[in-house]
Amino acid sequence: MTDPAATPSGDEDFGLYVHWPFCLSKCPYCDFNSHVVDAVDQGAWRAALLRELAHVAARTPGRRLTSIFFGGGTPSLMAPETAAALIDAARAAWTPLPDLEITLEANPGTVDAARFEAIRAAGVNRLSMGVQALDDDDLKRLGRRHGVAEARAAWRAAAGLFPRTSFDLIYARVGQGLVAWQDELKRALDEAAACGITHLSLYQLTMEEGTAMAAEHARGAFVLPGEDAAADLYEATQVLCATAGLPAYEISNHAVPGTECRHNLTYWRGGDYAGIGPGAHGRLTVDGAVHATRQIKAPALWLKRTLKAGHGTQEEERLTPRARAEELVMTGLRTVEGIDKARFARLTGSPLAAVVAAAGLATLVREGLIVETPQALRVTARGRLALNAVVRMLLA
Ligand code: SF4
Repeated sequence: MTDPAATPSGDEDFGLYVHWPFCLSKCPYCDFNSHVVDAVDQGAWRAALLRELAHVAARTPGRRLTSIFFGGGTPSLMAPETAAALIDAARAAWTPLPDLEITLEANPGTVDAARFEAIRAAGVNRLSMGVQALDDDDLKRLGRRHGVAEARAAWRAAAGLFPRTSFDLIYARVGQGLVAWQDELKRALDEAAACGITHLSLYQLTMEEGTAMAAEHARGAFVLPGEDAAADLYEATQVLCATAGLPAYEISNHAVPGTECRHNLTYWRGGDYAGIGPGAHGRLTVDGAVHATRQIKAPALWLKRTLKAGHGTQEEERLTPRARAEELVMTGLRTVEGIDKARFARLTGSPLAAVVAAAGLATLVREGLIVETPQALRVTARGRLALNAVVRMLLA
């Protein structure tokens, strides 16, 4: 039986993630499963995604669907009819919440007014836009195809059409000092407020192994802000966003309270989600155990296998209780609310105290990196800066 109090964003949340793996070009910093191809057979992709959705729906009957997220790649390049067909199929397969959150990621330069309207008509009610910088030179350096003016026009159009809009920026870029970032973020917050945008995702530029930018960096082609400088930018981000009424609710995500991304909260709180499309990950509770699923990563192979077999699952693993508990610690501590002890015990069958190292926890509390209350365990703003080390100590 479901507990109405558990939704939205409680234990009963169940999201659908759809991965669209194609982009117009490859950004040099990007390690996502994104590919540039000459042509996409939209009909075949629609058919395959619908088949994989049906496959996962058959394993998860009766779930209450709380969110759908089209990520990528650049899902704004997906034919809007495909998004519409998938949304209709998901609504029919599960029981959708009346206010089902449906997010689609878009890049400026891939959407005109007609495309936006078609995406909205498909049922998407939250648009997340990859703006990345409010500086034309930096956009070029990041390999982005759009300029600031184009991005601004796109987010204004989106904000006028979608009930909720968010945009992403990347900071700690090459040569970016504190004052420059503060100025850019203030402009972003002002512009967001002016058009009713209530959510920003603000990521620090990191060098991901295997990317073109990481190789350039390793060759010494450029220098990024050091750890202390990046920490200053992070702290300034927290202050400016909170002052503007968009406090952090996760390491990189800021929102006017009540407009947080429900889909991502489902991940971080340990809820179930189905992942379809190349390389998509999922967490499915089947017969009382949580299964981690991963789809075939290579788009052509995924397509071929899915059209033939009905799904392109590469790997499925039944998580051990310890692995499940560790995952919940890692994801829960990303959020400002932290780990809800009662939920943790419900989802894992163990009290949190049985999973975390008592000595490590005591040290982290003493150092002001963690706060523990009878209800929750959460990382302080300072602790979030060193989250990997904090998690390592807790799970030692
Ligand atoms: S548009 Fe996004 S997904 Fe595509 S290459 Fe650039 S960063 Fe990666």
